[in-house]
Amino acid sequence: MPRTGSLDIYRGKRNFQKTAEPYGQKSRPRVKPIFVVQKHGARSLHYDFRLEVDGVLKSWAVPKGPSANPKDKRLAIATEDHPMEYADFEGVIPEGEYGAGPVIVWDRGSYENLTERNGEPVPMEEALAARHAVIRLSGKKLKGGYALTGFGKAPNQWLLVKLKDEFASANDLVKTEPRSVLSGRGLREAGRE
Ligand code: MN
Repeated sequence: MPRTGSLDIYRGKRNFQKTAEPYGQKSRPRVKPIFVVQKHGARSLHYDFRLEVDGVLKSWAVPKGPSANPKDKRLAIATEDHPMEYADFEGVIPEGEYGAGPVIVWDRGSYENLTERNGEPVPMEEALAARHAVIRLSGKKLKGGYALTGFGKAPNQWLLVKLKDEFASANDLVKTEPRSVLSGRGLREAGRE
């Protein structure tokens, strides 16, 4: 049986008899942790930004999606941890189930934790607990440095902001690159399966 308690909220929201989403096991760390961004046509469209941390996918719902433009401060609402297998999930969450609607893998790749304090590296768990992490993404669409920073009193409110580097641009990636990096499908095609 899975020993993690961190997926309990995820599991409690879902009926695995009805949805094809994975139940999830806690997995061992890989050489490089992964990130995934899923475009999710739920009641309101959003992009689920997920980072592998300690064997699960730490998750934020980003209503406007990630940007390559350092001027864009994208609201990111922290949501429940998801199992690692979720990074492969593309399909339709059935009507009546939590998050009902189509999901595509909008981007995926590995990331590096660049968070430092007083010049010393800060482990990802600590960085997130302190509500500030700096990461470098190596995806197909998202590349280079990003900062994830909590703000305000509500613990689930964060901002996802592109750092100024050679990958920064005015390109609104969610508009110019709308499709799945796994299947090439758009959200509507995924919804028709
Ligand atoms: Mn979602």
